Amino acid sequence: MIKSNFGIGILKIKSIKNYNKIENITTENWIIKNCGKKVYEKIWEPLLISKYADKKSKISMAWLWGKINLRSSSSKLITECLGYMDGSFEVIIQNLEKYLIENGCKIKYNYEVKNIVELNSKWLLDGNTYDAILSTVAYPITKKIYKDYLSNEEIQKMDMVKYTAARTMIITSKKPFTSFYWLNNGDKNIPFGGIIEHTNMVSSSNYNGNNIIYISNYMFQNDKLFKLSKQELYKIYLPYLKKIADNFNSNDIIDYDVYDELYAQPVIETNYSDKILPFKLQRKGLYIATMPQIYPEDRGMNYAIKMGYEVADAIYKELEL
Ligand SMILES: Cc1cc2nc3c(=O)[nH]c(=O)nc-3n(C[C@H](O)[C@H](O)[C@H](O)COP(=O)(O)OP(=O)(O)OC[C@H]3O[C@@H](n4cnc5c(N)ncnc54)[C@H](O)[C@@H]3O)c2cc1C
Repeated sequence: MIKSNFGIGILKIKSIKNYNKIENITTENWIIKNCGKKVYEKIWEPLLISKYADKKSKISMAWLWGKINLRSSSSKLITECLGYMDGSFEVIIQNLEKYLIENGCKIKYNYEVKNIVELNSKWLLDGNTYDAILSTVAYPITKKIYKDYLSNEEIQKMDMVKYTAARTMIITSKKPFTSFYWLNNGDKNIPFGGIIEHTNMVSSSNYNGNNIIYISNYMFQNDKLFKLSKQELYKIYLPYLKKIADNFNSNDIIDYDVYDELYAQPVIETNYSDKILPFKLQRKGLYIATMPQIYPEDRGMNYAIKMGYEVADAIYKELEL
């Protein structure tokens, strides 16, 4: 029964042509009404918790619509295709860096932009003047950098968007953990969201025969797990890892590490389109292109690249370059 109601729900979501009609409804309410409480509690609620923690009841149905429609669209042209690039995104970054330098761009490494100053209709940053400034960092950081030049309306919109943080544990193991590539967690008592076993998709021969296991965990910065050391976090995860994979043996673990991101995922609440800022801000020459402006698709590397092209076009047009 749960499976058929789940399937019917997917078909219903795919039949919705325009997300505008559902952006004022929460995912929770829509799923309970259209698929029943059991489908919500067994399938969607754990997924919402794993991405949005205690904000799970606020998430717009437009967000889920974006995920389902793009991953399963019948049109080959717009279907999202998941994949892995040999050598990782590093390959793109290195080639981009090379191209930019060869074409006269200057890149500053390990440099934190703290503020900008408007001077004679130009922008002053670190002793150089520019026609335009584009921020691609999270709203709270952009707010600090642009602080004297944002309108009240722009500040209000930035303040309306909350972010979840993320702690990602990467484990290097002598043995595979499970035979699955992607395992979403449907048990609310397990303190992490999912296990992605990279070497069940990409051969372990790329990693000296070792297995790479990625444990995702989205949470708010005030979560008690966010403050723990990597050793403390590992200790908390360990009994659950053993529970999930019967033959799991901690002696097989070669190493593990934890990577934190403060602004990992904008919380896509109802009527989210009201909160989106345009690329061009009100002050001449100021631009922003960052994760919360990607909607109704869920943020991702491909959308970041697409947005890069779009904002570059907008700047070129505005400055008549
Ligand atoms: C846990 C996790 C898993 C994900 N998994 C996937 C996935 O499987 N597939 C996928 O497509 N996407 C995934 N994403 C999303 C993807 O990482 C983002 O969509 C993408 O990185 C956004 O790119 P960006 O350039 O906008 O921002 P970012 O990649 O966040 O880059 C912003 C950069 O700005 C720098 N910065 C911040 N402040 C300053 C400052 N003041 N001065 C100078 N520099 C500064 C930061 O250090 C950072 O390097 C994942 C994200 C997370 C958090």
